[in-house]
Amino acid sequence: MQEKCGVVGISLADRDAARPLYYSLYALQHRGQESAGIVTHDGFQQHEHVEMGLVGDVFDNGDLATLNGANGIGHVRYPTAGGVNACCAQPFSVSFKSGSLGLAHNGNLVNADDVRENLANQGHAFTSNGDTEVIAHDIARNLLEADLVRAVKSTMERIHGSYSLTIMHDETVLGVRDPQGNRPLCIGELEDGYVIASESAAIDTLDGELVRDVRPGELIVLESDGSGFDSYQLFDEPQSAHCFFEHVYFARPDSIMNGELVYDVRRDLGRQLWEESGIETDVVMPVPDSGRAFASGYAEAATEEGAKTEFAEGLMKNRYVGRTFIMPTQDERERAVRLKLNPIKSTIEGKTVTLIDDSIVRGTTSKQLIELLRDAGAEEIHLRIGAPAIVAPCYFGIDMASRDELIAADKTGTEIEDEIGADSLSYLSIEGITNALGSDRADLCFGCVTGEYPYDVVGEATDRDVTRPSIVDETMSADD
Ligand code: AMP
Repeated sequence: MQEKCGVVGISLADRDAARPLYYSLYALQHRGQESAGIVTHDGFQQHEHVEMGLVGDVFDNGDLATLNGANGIGHVRYPTAGGVNACCAQPFSVSFKSGSLGLAHNGNLVNADDVRENLANQGHAFTSNGDTEVIAHDIARNLLEADLVRAVKSTMERIHGSYSLTIMHDETVLGVRDPQGNRPLCIGELEDGYVIASESAAIDTLDGELVRDVRPGELIVLESDGSGFDSYQLFDEPQSAHCFFEHVYFARPDSIMNGELVYDVRRDLGRQLWEESGIETDVVMPVPDSGRAFASGYAEAATEEGAKTEFAEGLMKNRYVGRTFIMPTQDERERAVRLKLNPIKSTIEGKTVTLIDDSIVRGTTSKQLIELLRDAGAEEIHLRIGAPAIVAPCYFGIDMASRDELIAADKTGTEIEDEIGADSLSYLSIEGITNALGSDRADLCFGCVTGEYPYDVVGEATDRDVTRPSIVDETMSADD
C-alpha cells in the first residue's frame, strides 16, 4: 500500500519529545491529512496515541501529557491506495521478545507481498495489509539474532521500493532512506537534541538547524540522550531516484531539499518555463497557491528579457473551504470552484493572461479556472505548466490518480488544450526540470511523466539497468 506521508523522529536530553513531535507533525500536515500519530518511549515502556484526523484534532493536552519520554517518532498519513483505513494509521508499534518497536513509513514497497508471505509462513500474524507492518515484523525477527544496525540492514536487503522511515527500538530513534532515496528525509540539530524529519520545515518549526539530508541507503541512529547521531552508509548505489515531483508540488516551498530551497527551485522552474515557451501577455497570473513561485520566476525572466507583462494575483482563494466540503450534486461540485476561488475582475477584464500552475493531473482545476477567467472577461488565456505532462500513476507515495483519470495519459497537447479551453498550453520539459534542480536525469524518478520507473513495478517499464540495490560489502562503521 502506498503511503503519501510525513515522518519524524526526535531524541532529546531531558524533556518529553511529545510536544516537539506534535509541532513537527503540524509542519508536515501537507504530507498527509487522514491520520496522525506519535509513539514515545520513557526508558521503560512505549506510549502511543494514533488516530484518524488532522494533527490539531487528533491530539489534545491530555493526550500529549500521556506521551512520556524524551524519545519518539511521529507520522501523518494520507493513503494513496486502499482507501480510508483506520487499521493503517501510523506509527505502527509492536512489542516482541527483544523489546518494543515503532515504525513510521513514507513510500511504497514493491515486494511487500512476497516478504509478508515469507514471514507469514514463519508464523508471523499480520493485522493490516500495509507495508509498514511487514517492515516492522522483519526487523523484529532480525533483532532476535542481530544488533539493531545489522537487523535494519538485513531488512533493507529484503525489502525493495521506496521508503523513508523513522523507527524506534525501545528508546533508540533511527532514520533510514531507501538506497535510491526516492522520498526525502533530513537531520536537524536542536538546542537539546536531534530530529529526523521528512522535510526541513519541521526542523525550522522547532527552532533547529538543518544538518543535512539523510543520504540514500544511509541509516541514522540518534543517541537516546540527544547528544548526537551515528551514520551507517549501508548501501551505496551509483544512481538515485529522487522524486522530482516533491520539488514541483508536494514539498513545502520553505523546505530545503538536496541543499536547495524548494521555493527557489520553483522560481527557477518558472524561469525555465519562460525560456522554453514564454509568450508575452498583459498579465502573468498564478493559480493560488501552487503556481505562485513558478509565476513569479516566469514573470521575472519575462521582464528581464524586455517583455511588457505584469505579475498579477487575479484569483483570490477562500482559505476556509477545506477537504471536508461536501458536494452532493454535479451542480454543487461545479460551484465548488467559485467557493474556493474568486477572480478579481479589474486585473482580468480585457487582458491577455498567462495562467501558471505547477501541474495538470485530471485537468479539472485548469478547466474550471479558465472558464472562470473567461467569465471575468479575459481576452486570451495561455496556460503554462511547471512540470511535464503527467501520463502515468505514481506507485511510490504521491496520490496521482489512476491512469484512466489522468488527462494526459491518452490525449495530445492540442486535445488537452481544446478540452480545458486554453488558447495555448505548454508544459515544462524534463530537461527544464533537471536544469532547475541541477541534477542528472539518471538520479531522478520521472515515472509519472515517462511511464518508466526506477523500481520494478509489475506490468510497468523501468528506466534502469538494475532496479535492485547491491549491498555494501565493507564492515559497517559509524561516523558522526
Ligand atoms: P487537476 O485538477 O486534477 O488537474 O489537479 C491539478 C491541481 O492539483 C494543480 O493545481 C496541482 O497543484 C494540484 N495537484 C498536483 N498534484 C496533486 C496531488 N498529487 N494531489 C493533490 N493535488 C495535486
